[in-house]
Amino acid sequence: MENYLESRDTIGVNDAVLLNDTSNRADFIENLKKRFKGDIIYTYIGPVLISVNPYKDLPIYGADYVKKYHNVNFIEVAPHVFGLTDNAYRQLKEEKRDQCILIAGESGSGKTEASKKILQYIASVSKNFPTVESTKDKLLKSNPLLEAFGNAQTNRNDNSSRFGKYMDIEFDFRGNPIGGHILKYLLEKSRVVVQSTGERNFHVFYQLLAGCDDSVLEKLQLSRSPSDYHYLKQGNVKSSSSEDAKQFEIVSSAMDTLGFESKEKHEVLQIVAAVLHVGNVQFKQDGNHAKVTTHDVIASASKLLGCTVEKLTKAFTFKTIEARGDFVTSPLSHEQSLYARDALAKAIYERLFSWLVGRLNDSLKSNYEDRKTLMGILDIYGFEIFEANSFEQFCINYCNEKLQQLFIELTLKSEQEEYRREGIEWEHIEYFNNKVICDLIEEKHKGIISILDEECLRPGEPSDFSFLEKMDKSLSTHPHYISHKKATNAVRKSLTRDEFRLDHYAGTVTYKVHGFLDKNNDLLFRDLKETIGQSTNNILQSIFPLSELQRKKRPDTAATQFKQSLNQLMDILMSKEPSYIRCIKPNEFKKSAVFELEIVDHQVKYLGLMENLRVRRAGFAYRRTYDTFLERYKSLCPKTWPKFQGTDRDGVYVLMKHLGYNQDHFRMGKSKIFIRHAQTLFAIEDRFQLR
Ligand code: ADP
Ligand code: MG
Repeated sequence: MENYLESRDTIGVNDAVLLNDTSNRADFIENLKKRFKGDIIYTYIGPVLISVNPYKDLPIYGADYVKKYHNVNFIEVAPHVFGLTDNAYRQLKEEKRDQCILIAGESGSGKTEASKKILQYIASVSKNFPTVESTKDKLLKSNPLLEAFGNAQTNRNDNSSRFGKYMDIEFDFRGNPIGGHILKYLLEKSRVVVQSTGERNFHVFYQLLAGCDDSVLEKLQLSRSPSDYHYLKQGNVKSSSSEDAKQFEIVSSAMDTLGFESKEKHEVLQIVAAVLHVGNVQFKQDGNHAKVTTHDVIASASKLLGCTVEKLTKAFTFKTIEARGDFVTSPLSHEQSLYARDALAKAIYERLFSWLVGRLNDSLKSNYEDRKTLMGILDIYGFEIFEANSFEQFCINYCNEKLQQLFIELTLKSEQEEYRREGIEWEHIEYFNNKVICDLIEEKHKGIISILDEECLRPGEPSDFSFLEKMDKSLSTHPHYISHKKATNAVRKSLTRDEFRLDHYAGTVTYKVHGFLDKNNDLLFRDLKETIGQSTNNILQSIFPLSELQRKKRPDTAATQFKQSLNQLMDILMSKEPSYIRCIKPNEFKKSAVFELEIVDHQVKYLGLMENLRVRRAGFAYRRTYDTFLERYKSLCPKTWPKFQGTDRDGVYVLMKHLGYNQDHFRMGKSKIFIRHAQTLFAIEDRFQLR
């Protein structure tokens, strides 16, 4: 077995806590870089695992590695996602404590791959009863299915998750997986109708075109070529149709494993195909209203949507508004028709995705009656700062603020708890609490989401600009809010009149208000809801319930729904024992062996890693149980070598005194020794000639 300390001096340090006390961010990154160059992608900060995407397959996930980390204290072996998982899994099994693993990092940094490794590890080390096998199989197969519908090729990542995912794996009392449950967050549905250059729509569209049988293709009235579809050709991406075809096979067999019936499967594909046809419907302006010009296309679309051509045509070109019990119908302009068309495509796709998640959950449900223990895995988008930031970035960054807050609170809390458990006095640590920014966004009546909702509901003519004005009025004194009005001259030059800026914990982000109201309202004309709600396709019928039309109360806005789901997520995470993985992307080109300092520096900053290291180091950075410590160092003192006559705790004390350590530099806890500075440890190691 490779020993922690032995492997430590292979390249750099295994745990950043062991870096020199005066080391700064540059030293921290230098350590990551050194290790990365030697294909060591994992490093710890105490219990937090840092992973740098190698962009190449490393031989470190095989059965040999599973064995190496199985039932071994993670601190005694080289950092690895298996080590972290094993630790969480053992706490779950032995102490029956629910766990969660929080994975953060920007797009392409390796979050989803890490979550798959966690699942792989759990599947490998748990027992092989037939029922457990089938659960494992389903859990593993849920990935390709969700990824087909929720992932896409982007400029940052060829397989970028365009939704946030939280998955609970459920275990019986023996620690065998018996079921699961998935929660999803904010699917990037705008991608269904627009893609930037170099990016694709969701994988499933291409997979369907490349992979389905000729007979199915004909039934769906599709061609093999993505460039025939408006919704697939905007990004101008050349991709491998054989790869897509292969993936279609995998997705299709995953659906079988998960118990989809063939009719259900066909209905799903019909909906996917319908979205493509909808995107090809075109209009012309005729007088003051729009007319459909592509009759064949709308015929295909309505056939697959299970409605009549007349109804769909009308729903695309007219809108009905209910005003005090009366229905008033008016024609749409060309532009409004295009808007209605795209809104329908997005709504159908988004609701299909939700349906799929629900369907997966049905399939993963266990009928185990006793208390289940849970291991949650959170794979969610990292902080985003783009050239132009909109409502989506606002939501994503808000989510990251919440997670950062949780992270700070929980790491501090667990530090405090360990000190208390060990009977050591707690020393206060200064840190930046980002609650102030969370409040700025989510506080009732005062926060940005409340102001946005208020504008969305206000009669009259609310607009993105009136929203901005309102924020300027109510938030002008907030230290983390800057707008054109409030800014100093120098800052004002860098802000246009349609922007506002938030000082997030991870950096300053400028948001353009354009589209905030529309995206938050997220309206779909009732004519479209009614038409699709009457579909002969069972899935469509169930995801567009007609009862929705009767509802008097307005549904919650997009931001409010997101806020609620995030707060629920926080409660879920708070109730579990957390572990953290922080993923870093070494370069922007998806290239192996390239480590760009500037890019890594940015991520280290916004992942709050230095803060994390500081908290970890502020007190007693190094800690080991007495038995492991004594075993390791007993040869340094004649009284402890070859065997100490007495308790391990007394032995450690004798050893420390013998080595000349001052009482202020270490503490004796109930089961562990706590050493203040890494240097003390280095000194020991020097004597030990390990360095
Ligand atoms: P994220 O979910 O953070 O956006 P992914 O997990 O999808 O990023 O990783 C992006 C790509 O990087 C993967 O498709 C894979 O090619 C590569 N990658 C990520 N992690 C690893 C790893 N541990 N080993 C090898 N390649 C990896
Ligand atoms: Mg991902």
